[in-house]
Amino acid sequence: MPMEISVTGNAAPVPDDRLAEILSAPGFGVHFTDHMLTVEWTPEKGWHDARITPYGPITLDPATAVLHYAQETFEGMKAYRHEDGSIWSFRPEENGARMARSSHRLALPVLEVEDFVAAVDALVRVDERWVPDGAGEKSLYLRPFMFASEKFLGVRPSQHVTFMVIASPAGAYFKGGLKPVSLWLTEEYTRAGRGGMGAAKTGGNYASSLVAQQEATSHGCDQVVFLDAQEMRYVEELGGMNMYFVYDDGHIVTPATGTILEGITRASIIELAGKLGHSVEERRFSIEEWRDDVSSGRIREIFACGTAAVVTPVGSLKHAGGEIPAPADTGEAGGELTGRIRSALVDLQFGRAEDTFGWMHRI
Ligand code: PMP
Repeated sequence: MPMEISVTGNAAPVPDDRLAEILSAPGFGVHFTDHMLTVEWTPEKGWHDARITPYGPITLDPATAVLHYAQETFEGMKAYRHEDGSIWSFRPEENGARMARSSHRLALPVLEVEDFVAAVDALVRVDERWVPDGAGEKSLYLRPFMFASEKFLGVRPSQHVTFMVIASPAGAYFKGGLKPVSLWLTEEYTRAGRGGMGAAKTGGNYASSLVAQQEATSHGCDQVVFLDAQEMRYVEELGGMNMYFVYDDGHIVTPATGTILEGITRASIIELAGKLGHSVEERRFSIEEWRDDVSSGRIREIFACGTAAVVTPVGSLKHAGGEIPAPADTGEAGGELTGRIRSALVDLQFGRAEDTFGWMHRI
């Protein structure tokens, strides 16, 4: 039995004309829907008091544990409106399972996948009018998160935990059409070590990536690439996206997991590429291979992937000692296979292609 969720309080909904204005140019993460969902956890009661209330600020005691020790996890996913008006999410049980893994790593209680999906669905249903139409790849971005809400300054797992879901309409990631991103290789900072939190979706990983992203920006690059912490040699991922390298014989390489965040887009592309006739290797991938195989022309395309941008072509990689140029087949909008994989995924998400994998979930 999934948990019961009550809807309480009267939201003053954003007026229709204002909503239409927001949905016409939503940006990312700036506007929030009329409601939010909250569930509490204590060791005695487990998860309880699931409720949807009007969206608004929450009050936290200054001693609330999360503010000091960052015991928190989160997810990122989207709801898509199909042409017939129906609303769908993409593999939400994968987000639920990943949140359970992240929570386990952060010594937070696990919310059952079934409850996670029910919570997200319930909020989307209440705020259904906030799901933009799918034209121009707009969607409703969903942000489930869980944090240590006990008022206590000792370092130990919190005895009061809060799970929430908020939602925010999102515009197309690429406003001016698809364009390769330029990357900066940080050789000073790493995001995850062996036994660390790299595979968990927790705020601290993003906090630690910011200074490296600043470094990328100061070198005129769009995004930062992290290497493994031990040898500073193996490519891990970008601050918020996983990576793929396409070879001239059709095979594709993506860095192996362990210290990277296992993207749901990444996992989906492994299956999708297989169906398109491409074999995918998940293995360690060194920066020397990147340099040498672009130089010899064996790497034809590089792309990054994640929920926000789906699939992003990658151009050149700058580093302190020079630059690895964009692979030979990187056109103005990226490579051919990059484009095909992107279209296949986007068409599926927006209901324009048959869902042969059974990945879409009707809300
Ligand atoms: N790596 C990191 C560090 C991320 O934050 C994300 C975004 N969640 C990804 C990869 C891609 O994951 P997904 O495909 O599930 O969005």
